[in-house]
Formats: sequence, structure tokens, C-alpha cells
Amino acid sequence: MARRRARDRGEIEELPSGSLRVTVYAGVDPLTKRRHRIREVIAAGPTAAAEAEKALRRLLVQVDEQRSPTTAATVEQLLDRHFELLEVEPSTLATYRSLATTHIVPLLGKQKVGALRAAVFDSFYAELRRCRAHCDRRPYTEHRTDRAHECDDRCRPHACRPLAKSTIRQIHVILSGALKRAVRWRWLSTNPIEHAEAPQQPASNPQPPSAQEAARILNEAWADPDWAVLVWLTMVTGFRRGELCALRWRHLDLVGGVLAVERSIAQLNGRTCEKDTKTHQNRRIALDPETLALLAGHRQLCMDRAAAVGVDLAPDAFMFSPAVDGGGATQPEPSGPGHCPTGRRLEARTYADNHPTTPDRRWSPTNAGASWRVTRGDDGRTH
Ligand SMILES: [Zn+2]
Ligand SMILES: [Zn+2]
Repeated sequence: MARRRARDRGEIEELPSGSLRVTVYAGVDPLTKRRHRIREVIAAGPTAAAEAEKALRRLLVQVDEQRSPTTAATVEQLLDRHFELLEVEPSTLATYRSLATTHIVPLLGKQKVGALRAAVFDSFYAELRRCRAHCDRRPYTEHRTDRAHECDDRCRPHACRPLAKSTIRQIHVILSGALKRAVRWRWLSTNPIEHAEAPQQPASNPQPPSAQEAARILNEAWADPDWAVLVWLTMVTGFRRGELCALRWRHLDLVGGVLAVERSIAQLNGRTCEKDTKTHQNRRIALDPETLALLAGHRQLCMDRAAAVGVDLAPDAFMFSPAVDGGGATQPEPSGPGHCPTGRRLEARTYADNHPTTPDRRWSPTNAGASWRVTRGDDGRTH
């Protein structure tokens, strides 16, 4: 390979084929600390030398104007840096990291940030819509467990299922945020994802229970008074699960008929923490007389149960607690170790969980409500 010409910032080399390779140095990569190069190959021919000179000048100008990527960082490296600096709730960050590990990194992780084009995102989203398992289209069996086992009818041939629209949208939000940061850091001069077709937020489809269903759910719930009060309160307040679980008796003003929401219970890796409400606003809602009477009855029941074992309610007792003195919160996550007071799991996504910005958060049979699934024990069956 003959070196035709070398300059400080770029060079033109002749390849064995006779083509000319133009190389321009575009700064030091911030992650790998290696010099970053842009290359262009000019096919052999009578005008090749002149064209190579032109290309060299163009690329040098491009580097000067920072129109070229100055990093060879990969998408995975960018996401790592992005997550380190991102200021969001720990539970949100955990969700982002998990989506990145499961969906972004396996498909885009090794791509150079500087090489991303809008078309890459379009095909990435198309792949997520095809199969959430990112399979290679060859048939295989999905086993019920990774451990050694005898296959039974729970081990099934894999069928491709699309990733939920809302999840694809969330992945887009993660990538957009990371790439915006890359532009701010001058790793990129333009944000390629802005030219991709953004996956739409799916239209809201809360499927609230009908009035009859709500009545049936409540009727069944009355077999267990704590559970029934929790279900009722969800329906009349539209609070999120985490908010309901964080309610303490001091938040209830029985005389004024007002309930305040100040905190929310979140779970992360099996640990529970109390945090601000999602909208970071304390809310106070007026309760109707029936609900107030129910809550008064529920409090009396809690006090009676505590008295029966010779304790008082804790000074800051939770309204719904697996502890007889109200000292611990009920866990909002069905997969978590906690159970609601009676051993049933609370597995409900309330309308408010799914629609945090909806102004009308009060339950009515037509506009809100919750899709309830009450599971008992660990068999996972829905009752
Ligand atoms: Zn199997
Ligand atoms: Zn598949």
C-alpha cells in the first residue's frame, strides 16, 4: 500500500486495488481515548487523485464544523453514561435500565452512536413490533423453566408476539433522551432519532368495569372487609396503587371529610420505599358520607384488632397494613413479597396508574375505574 501523502490531520493512501482512501482525523474519542477517523474511498480512475484531494478538503471542513461525529462510542456506552447522569426516580431508572438491557442493547448496543441514521430506528421499532423476544424466525420451544425438567404442555412452541405499543414508546423516550445528551456533548451534530418515525403513544383504553361489574367486584370483596375498603377507595378516589398503600390514618380528616395524598409507596428490587407522589403534588379530596362511614368503620376494626392482642395502633399507622398495629405498608406490586392484609395479592392497575395526566381522577362507571384481578396465593390464577 503506497502512502501518497500525509498531513497532520488527514492523508490519502493508495489501496492495492488502485482506489484511494482518504482518512481524516476527527479528534479524540471521549470514551476510548483513541483518535477518531473518518474515511472515504475513491474508486480508481483518471480523476481519482483530484477527487481524493477534494474529498480530503471537504472532510476537513466537515470536522471543523463539527458536522461529523466526534465519538466512536456505542449505543450501549452512551446509555450507560446517560443513566448515570439521569435524574429520575429510582423506580423509573430501574425500568429504563431493564428496557435497555432487554430490548435496546441486544439489537442496537454495538452500533456506533455516530453511525445511527433514522432508518436504523425505523427498522428497530419494526423488529420490536414483530417479536418481543427478538427471535431469529426459526421455530423453538419456550420452556416453562430454565432448570432441568420434564417437558409438559406448559412448554410450548414459540409464537412471536409484538412488544406493547406503550413499551415501544417508552423505549423511544429513553433513546431520544440519551441522543439529546449526545448532541449536547457534541458527540453528534444532529439527533438522528428526530427524523425517525416516532412510535405513537397508544390511545387510552382503560376498560373500566361497568357499574354491574363494579358492584360484583365489591360484593365479592365484602367477604374480606379490609380488602373491600381498599377496593372501594380505589373506585371512589382513582388513586394509584402506590398512593393507596401509602395512606396513613393521619391523612384522613373524618370531621372535615377530607383525605390527603402526600406519599406513594414504590418497590424496587423487592425493597420498599416511600416517595413523592408521581405528580409531586399533594392532593386533598372530599369524601362522600358513605365512604367516610366506611373508613370510620375500618379504623375502628383496626383499633379493635390491635386491642385484641394488647397493642395500640402505631402513631403513624397505615390505613392498610399487614401488621396488626398498622406499622408497615401494604405492597403495591403483585410480584413483590408483600401481600395485602388477608393474604390476597393486590394486582390492580388503576386507571390513574395508566393515565397520570387525566384531569378527572374520580371513578365513575364510564370514565375511570380499575381493571381488577384478585389473585389468591401463588397459583397465579385469577379469581
Ligand atoms: Zn420444557
Ligand atoms: Zn419470535
